[in-house]
Amino acid sequence: MIDKNINKIRSDIPDYVEIIAISKTKPNEDIMKAYKIGHRSFGENKVQEMSRKFEELPKDIIWHMVGHVQSNKIKYMAPFVNLIHGVDSFKSIKIINKEGQKNNRVLNCLLQLKISQEESKFGLETDALKKIIFSDEYDEMKNIKIKGIMAMATNTNSKDIIRNEFMYAKNIFDEISAVDNNFEILSMGMSNDYHLAIECGSNMIRIGSLIFGDRNY
Ligand SMILES: *Cc1c(COP(=O)(O)O)cnc(C)c1O
Repeated sequence: MIDKNINKIRSDIPDYVEIIAISKTKPNEDIMKAYKIGHRSFGENKVQEMSRKFEELPKDIIWHMVGHVQSNKIKYMAPFVNLIHGVDSFKSIKIINKEGQKNNRVLNCLLQLKISQEESKFGLETDALKKIIFSDEYDEMKNIKIKGIMAMATNTNSKDIIRNEFMYAKNIFDEISAVDNNFEILSMGMSNDYHLAIECGSNMIRIGSLIFGDRNY
């Protein structure tokens, strides 16, 4: 099932869109089913779970942290994480840079842009996000690279609301990528809204339940 699910999603989206298989709460066997058909990019939302899976699974897996980043956990993933999606404070950026330095790596991350009015959604307001990107302080950091934006739309049935939110993120992304060569990833779209996200310019989708089935928390 898992292999078929990935192939089905792959077959009806453009080649340039990268699929991150969100394997949170799912066992290693499920990840290996996707791995065996050549899938390598997986995402988790808890540092401890991702670190355990990193230890137990093949080392050519490309790990994405898609959860909200707690600054005290950054050190545990710094040695191996490939992309940190949910960065939304300057405090985290400073720690990511410091941990990158300790590990002699440049840590790639995305800033999470708040596009939903929902209280529970994390993320930076537009002004705060731009302020970080264009700050001298970030410019001087050698061990972190902000590669783009991650955004999550409101959990609603209204396609109009979701489309407006995604288009908003795409506009901010275009504005920054026009002047910043590192800015190339727009991570948006999940199982329920990835077609709409791609229509609106997403080039990285984060798919969990559509690949692995429903999660039992
Ligand atoms: C869980 C999660 C996903 C995947 O959600 P599905 O609806 O199962 O596809 C995507 N992004 C983030 C940040 C998540 O936490």
